[in-house]
Amino acid sequence: MEISPKEEKTVLFVKPDGVKRGLVGEVIKRVESRGLKIISLKMIVASEDMARDHYPNTDGWLRGMGEKTLDNYRQYGKDPIKELGTDDPLEIGKEIAGWNVDFLTSGPIVAMVIQGIHAVDMVRKIVGKTIPAVAEMGTIRGDFSVDSPTLANIGKRAIHNVVHASGDSSEAAHELEHWFKSEEIHEYKRAEEDIMF
Ligand code: ADP
Repeated sequence: MEISPKEEKTVLFVKPDGVKRGLVGEVIKRVESRGLKIISLKMIVASEDMARDHYPNTDGWLRGMGEKTLDNYRQYGKDPIKELGTDDPLEIGKEIAGWNVDFLTSGPIVAMVIQGIHAVDMVRKIVGKTIPAVAEMGTIRGDFSVDSPTLANIGKRAIHNVVHASGDSSEAAHELEHWFKSEEIHEYKRAEEDIMF
């Protein structure tokens, strides 16, 4: 049976930096005010295994992180070989993957399931691009973060960019099943549903 477009789901986290900076409410407000529905919400401390298996960890995904990093290095005239010891995007991606696990397990996160029309793309739009300097103003990352790979990588750590959101529908399906039990997902009707769509 085909699911209604209204029921598209995605996963959103406030990462440890966002929780420690008191940005949980701000993130929730931005999601709710767009008419998207929170159908699950919890604060957890992720284990290392859970954090590692959260990410796709495919070569394509690792290379993508590496490419974004290389773009940033180029833009700011930094030499990746000097800073990271390599300019191979896959090798860079693998290194970042380890830092991501350290970061995601470094404190509590607030994990949510968000439902609504085009929920995956809508939440990505609200969150903004990965690298804070590239994220538009008006997005969560653009408004609340200022970190950069060129700085983070000197400290051998992940970029602190406040939130995580599933990148596409297959990531969303994996993350939903990875982090949430079916009894933690709740159904209700938002008052606006009759008016907004
Ligand atoms: P997104 O979180 O926007 O989906 P990615 O999946 O490409 O982005 O990357 C996952 C996370 O890895 C990012 O949110 C960021 O915290 C971290 N990250 C990405 N690139 C770097 C980098 N060069 N240095 C440190 N951390 C990075």
